[in-house]
Amino acid sequence: TGGIMRPVLHRIMQARVNALGIPVRLGLTVDALGEDADGVDVRFSDGSDGRYDVVVGADGIASRVRALAFPDAVEPAETGQACWRLSTKRPEGFDRNEFFLGHQNAAGLNACGPDTIYLWMLTRHEPGAWLSEAEAHGRLRRELADFGGTMAWVRDNMTDEDWINYRPLAAMIQPDPWTTGRIVLLGDAAHATTPHLASGAGMAVEDALVLGDELEVAGRPVADSLRAYSARRYSRCRHVVETSVAVGKLQLEGGSAEQVGKLIGEGLHALAAEY
Ligand SMILES: Cc1cc2nc3c(=O)[nH]c(=O)nc-3n(C[C@H](O)[C@H](O)[C@H](O)COP(=O)(O)OP(=O)(O)OC[C@H]3O[C@@H](n4cnc5c(N)ncnc54)[C@H](O)[C@@H]3O)c2cc1C
Repeated sequence: TGGIMRPVLHRIMQARVNALGIPVRLGLTVDALGEDADGVDVRFSDGSDGRYDVVVGADGIASRVRALAFPDAVEPAETGQACWRLSTKRPEGFDRNEFFLGHQNAAGLNACGPDTIYLWMLTRHEPGAWLSEAEAHGRLRRELADFGGTMAWVRDNMTDEDWINYRPLAAMIQPDPWTTGRIVLLGDAAHATTPHLASGAGMAVEDALVLGDELEVAGRPVADSLRAYSARRYSRCRHVVETSVAVGKLQLEGGSAEQVGKLIGEGLHALAAEY
C-alpha cells in the first residue's frame, strides 16, 4: 500500500468539485444556524446568509457546526500520545512500507510517491507540552537516535527544510444519531480518531459515500435519511475510534510488539467487512 499527502488529495477533490460546477466559498465560517422542519438558515462570518435543505458539518475535530447545533456534544479528549510526521526524500531501493512496533516509540515509513516518503512516530505527550517549529527537526532526530535500518538513514539524511508536524492526539465519538433533523455531522466532526489504524480519513470518505446513498433514497423525509446514515456509520466508526485509542493505551502501558500488532491486525481485519 502507499500513502497520499493531503495537498495531492485536495487537488484531486478540487478538480472533481470544479468539474461538477459546485460553488465553493473560501475563507469564511458559519456564525449561526437556525433549523425548522423545512430547512436551515445559515449566517456566515462575512455577514451573508442563506437557507439550505441540509447542512453537513464536515469541519473537523473542532467542528463549529457541532458546537452550534449539538450543545451536548462529547468533547475530544487527549490520549497521552503525540504523533510526529515528516515528509522527506525517499531512500534508494525503498520498495515496501516499514513498521517498528517493538521500540518504545512506535514508528513507520510509507511511500508517498516516486521521490518522497512519510515518516510517522508516536511518543508520550505531557499535557500542555509545546514544541516550537524551530526545535522540531532536532527533537525528532534525537527521538530516532537508536533506530537502525531505513529509519536511521532517514534520521541522518532528513533536512531542516523537510515538512514536519508534531501533534498531540485526541479522540471522541458522538452518540448516534449525528443529526438534529436537517443538520448532520460527518468525518472527524462526528468521530475523531488517533492514527493507530490509519483509518480516520477513510472513515470520513466512507461517511460521505453513505450519506449520498441515503439521501438518494426516494420518497423519504430528509430527517429519516440523515438518521439512517448515522445508524449505518456508528458501529464501524466507533470500532475505529475505540480500537485506535486502545492501541495507544497499550503502547503507553508498555505492551509488547506482539500484543500491539495483534490488536492492530484484528482492528484492521474487522474493517474488511461491508460498510
Ligand atoms: C497525526 C495524525 C495522523 C493521521 N494519519 C492518518 C492516516 O494515516 N490515515 C487516515 O486515514 N487518517 C489519518 N488521520 C486522520 C485524518 O487526518 C482525519 O480523520 C481526516 O482528516 C478527517 O477528515 P475531515 O474532512 O472530517 O476533517 P479535516 O480533514 O480536519 O477537514 C476539516 C475541514 O474543515 C475546515 N474547517 C475547520 N473548521 C472550520 C470552520 N469553523 N469553518 C469552516 N471550515 C472549517 C478545515 O479547514 C478543513 O478543510 C490522522 C490524524 C492525525 C491527527
